[in-house]
Amino acid sequence: QWIFLGGEFVKKEDAVVSVFDHGFLYGDGVFEGIRVYSGNVFRLDAHLKRLYESAQSIMLKIPYTHEEMTQLIVETIKKNQLESAYIRVVVSRGKGNLGLDPSSCSNPNVIIIAEELSMFPKEFYEQGIKIASVASRRNRPDVLSPQIKSLNYLNNILVKLEANQAGVQEALMLNDQGYVTEGSADNIFIVKNGVIYTPPVYLGALEGITRNAILDVAKAKGFEVKESPFTRHDVYVADEVFLTGTAVEVIAVVEVDGRKIKDGVPGEVTNELLEEFRRIVTTDGVA
Ligand code: PLP
Repeated sequence: QWIFLGGEFVKKEDAVVSVFDHGFLYGDGVFEGIRVYSGNVFRLDAHLKRLYESAQSIMLKIPYTHEEMTQLIVETIKKNQLESAYIRVVVSRGKGNLGLDPSSCSNPNVIIIAEELSMFPKEFYEQGIKIASVASRRNRPDVLSPQIKSLNYLNNILVKLEANQAGVQEALMLNDQGYVTEGSADNIFIVKNGVIYTPPVYLGALEGITRNAILDVAKAKGFEVKESPFTRHDVYVADEVFLTGTAVEVIAVVEVDGRKIKDGVPGEVTNELLEEFRRIVTTDGVA
């Protein structure tokens, strides 16, 4: 396995970063998770746009252009001879001194890892998963924007730990007003009376690329789609619930906080959207 690191491809065993890298010391950096399906890098432009916007927001200068990054990602996939893969792009602030001031870091560190993906087991896709709402809240957008995909994922990790403790597969994160936002690393949708709802991102959700793909797919299929706020109650009484994300793709949720959703099996709309999503992922992107 070859990893792009420090401007070259190095073997996995040699892919190590300095303990003085502020990505390690402070979580100072940004990242993206991207999928490759049958040689097609799904919505790569959208992922790179988000990466550059996250970097811009934290005043981190990525030392490659969008086009150069595209080439580097494609090269990483080719070098590892992967047809289907999960790509992790990391840009950290780079090496500096022990103080947190980024001014001491002059060279951002760009890392690209491509590997075969180990996602949820197949049964979870067939039977659906359970989620639970957690005490940790999504950070307020005016304090730290959820649109910044930063290396500082401690809040999301705490949320995941709470889900683990509750014995469920994923967390349901609310904002400080109690509105539903998203999971620890995925967006949430509910279906009620044939209408598809997802929280508007201003409530505190990352504008997921899978989320946007599902919105496109749903509209193209003629569904009514609404980005509007909802609460846990709306989730409990929904006809269907599902999550979307680069890692999970589209996965049905059949139980929320111990409440079975409808019949407790993946819903028809969810399955229809998943099927269509699986169809577009091999064509919508960079081949
Ligand atoms: N929400 C958070 C907090 C995430 O980290 C992710 C993963 O990237 C998502 C949602 C899903 O976004 P995407 O579909 O772009 O992977």
